[in-house]
Amino acid sequence: MTIFLIALIIAFLCHLLPGRGKAEACFVVVAGRDASSTGRVLVGHNEDNRGELIMRHHYVKPREGKETLLSFEEGSAPVPAVWPALGFFWTETLRPAPGEPFGDSFVNERGVAVVSNTCCKSREDAPDLTDGGIGWGLRRIVAERAHSARDAVRIASDLVLTHGYRGSGRSYAFADAREAWIFQAVNGKHFAAARVPDDHVLVNPNHYSIRNMRLGSPDEFLASPGLIEYAIKRGWYVPARPGHYSDFDFAEAYQHPDYVMAPINEARHSFGLAIAAGVKIDLSARGARPPFSVRPLEPLSIKGVRDTLSCHCERPDDFNFDGPDGSGEWRTCPHDGGGILPDENRRDAYTRICNGSNRESLIADLHENSDDTVIWSCFGNPCILPMTPFHLGARAIPEHFAGHGPSELTQETEELTRLHFSATSEDVKASECEAWRLSRKLVGWCDEDYSRRIAAIADKTADLRRKIAESEEEEMDGKLEPGRARTSEMFLLKASEQAGLFVEAMRDLIGEV
Ligand SMILES: [Zn+2]
Repeated sequence: MTIFLIALIIAFLCHLLPGRGKAEACFVVVAGRDASSTGRVLVGHNEDNRGELIMRHHYVKPREGKETLLSFEEGSAPVPAVWPALGFFWTETLRPAPGEPFGDSFVNERGVAVVSNTCCKSREDAPDLTDGGIGWGLRRIVAERAHSARDAVRIASDLVLTHGYRGSGRSYAFADAREAWIFQAVNGKHFAAARVPDDHVLVNPNHYSIRNMRLGSPDEFLASPGLIEYAIKRGWYVPARPGHYSDFDFAEAYQHPDYVMAPINEARHSFGLAIAAGVKIDLSARGARPPFSVRPLEPLSIKGVRDTLSCHCERPDDFNFDGPDGSGEWRTCPHDGGGILPDENRRDAYTRICNGSNRESLIADLHENSDDTVIWSCFGNPCILPMTPFHLGARAIPEHFAGHGPSELTQETEELTRLHFSATSEDVKASECEAWRLSRKLVGWCDEDYSRRIAAIADKTADLRRKIAESEEEEMDGKLEPGRARTSEMFLLKASEQAGLFVEAMRDLIGEV
């Protein structure tokens, strides 16, 4: 058998493996409360995925369940239940079975946000897993139980230490209005966690980013027991001075060497810091790595987060990307792959932050009073689609954004969870919400002739953005009567009006295109 044939067979077998290409990228931006223009923590996230899938929103009400054990994806460990469970907003990546174990974001009724990015791959090749370990269940259980970002770290730590983490490597952002933590899990029972300093901005594409850790400062850093000793034992870390661990670098020790500053991450990390924080990091030196977080030149606004999530990394001189020409015209669609490294030895395609695999872009403006928390989102590239706001206080999803199909038969949480891992292609298709269908159609149309069409869309969506902004300001001006108790019905009415504005504008746009 020729080498070519063997390679073809291996490629085909890999294609059949569950989990192939899933939750393949993603990008996160976090601003600490003193680094944000709102004075509260801001979280931005691009969900990057390909393949047959839809995104849809749910609001799961707080509940008292009967089960004693919680089950998630096939092969994962059952986890003892704790009741009652908090209510939460859930943005779901629904795929045909076996489902998506590493997508999905949450913001719970206490105003705790959970988003994640893959950090594949870690160096661990002999993971310690109990009964298959925990995967999707980690984010879901944090959403059901965490009363603060720090509480989320404690819950995730307990889960990883008890069951072991199933994925190769992943970075979670847990945030509330006051503080944000990054929790980086390694396949098996190791993790590192670091608090984002209040006056710092963090961006992260898809690699471990926690570096030096002061493990005697539990308000700043936390780690699994034996994290450093295990790295020494495996030969992943050699202290410069035996017995002195001040030069321990988690990312350096636990990231697989083939994935250290991989092209998929390099441009996004560097441009992300430049846009979000106004800080240019020189990564040209051999072995240069971006910092965990930086102090921004200016506080980061919600618009600044959106601009970061929409970034196309447009300086071809730095990364040899195709960019707009002198007249601002794009010769190619910026969402089609990336550029090629000038270095002939590393001719790998880069990825832009706003790219062809964006399936949702989301910004959580977290408030101390969690009813006031606003989740801005769009189902695809944020450079094309306007984001619509959803106030957590609505405690139900407006009609145009809620899934239909099988989940409509029963909105029981357990049914939704079962469907998440057992859907057929027909179930997925039938579960599309109108906002998803319209958004994907518009993105597809725009990408066919990006340069010409983005301008036409921008003109038309400017009006929608203005109407939505006005609708948000109305609320600030007291239209929701802050002197009076604001009910979830009032918030839902607001969300429905805004969803209606979005759908109406999209229908008009698509009718015209
Ligand atoms: Zn874009």
